[in-house]
Amino acid sequence: FQRLRTGLLRSSSAIGEGITSIFTKRKLDDETLEELENVLIQADLGVATAMAITEALAKGRYGKDIAPEEVKTILASEVTKVLGPVAEPLTIDTSKKPFVLLVVGVNGSGKTTTIGKLAAKFRAEGKSVMMAAGDTFRAAAIEQLKVWGERTGTPVIARDVGSDAAGLAFDALKAAQEQNVDVLLVDTAGRLQNKAELMAELEKVIRVIRKVDPSAPHASLLVLDATTGQNALNQVEVFGRTAGVTGLAMTKLDGTARGGILVAISAKFKLPVHFIGVGEGIDDLEPFKAEDFAKAIAG
Ligand code: GDP
Repeated sequence: FQRLRTGLLRSSSAIGEGITSIFTKRKLDDETLEELENVLIQADLGVATAMAITEALAKGRYGKDIAPEEVKTILASEVTKVLGPVAEPLTIDTSKKPFVLLVVGVNGSGKTTTIGKLAAKFRAEGKSVMMAAGDTFRAAAIEQLKVWGERTGTPVIARDVGSDAAGLAFDALKAAQEQNVDVLLVDTAGRLQNKAELMAELEKVIRVIRKVDPSAPHASLLVLDATTGQNALNQVEVFGRTAGVTGLAMTKLDGTARGGILVAISAKFKLPVHFIGVGEGIDDLEPFKAEDFAKAIAG
């Protein structure tokens, strides 16, 4: 929580400072409500959420003096109302052997790093893990996954750069079945330069996985970079349609993050949020906790 809080400081301090400067010695009226709404929109919470929050705040308090601290408390509680229902742990159905977790997202969002952190987490829980280097487009991505494989003691199924990603996924799932592996983590490509091609590839990967196990993939985790702001909404839409996203992980909340976008995403898509990334290290993946996040945002 401390790291998240420090990380979210930029967005939260923008909101917190905004609230303090708006409401110090001023009433709750149309003017201050509009100023607050603008601060929340600036912080990426989205127009609909910003309006809902200011409405909730105005109810029963309109025309009265209100202390900045009270506004922050109400804001945190309203944000918790949005995030609470989507804060869901990722549950691994152990009857699936392997449980296939497809990991999708644009390049640079933190897919490979998140897979490495997840491998460490699952192994610490006593599960056997295998990784598939499904971003066959980039040599660096394959190499990086191998590094995470060594770091976490996890076997990595990889092929040469330029190989067919679906074929690789097929091989990896077969190998994971043969070796009775608990969790197979499948990395995927994320080049958005050619969106149609990328989406066709993802669809093919899923099709081929289903040929081996019709119930797979059992979860599809979309990794979002918190620093991309509004663009993340687009990514949820695009990957949600193609990759059947079942849950989200938001990375880089330790940096100059704009965590407010997660509130907008949750209000709009209501997809489960499983994890947050708070650093580049192996332990820097935390389960998503709505109340902590809301408090960090409210400043
Ligand atoms: P991919 O292209 O989606 O596989 O993204 P990578 O896993 O290669 O990550 C891109 C960069 O972001 C790397 O330099 C990672 O170390 C970094 N990164 C990933 N997650 C986090 C995070 O939670 N916090 C910080 N600060 N950096 C992260």
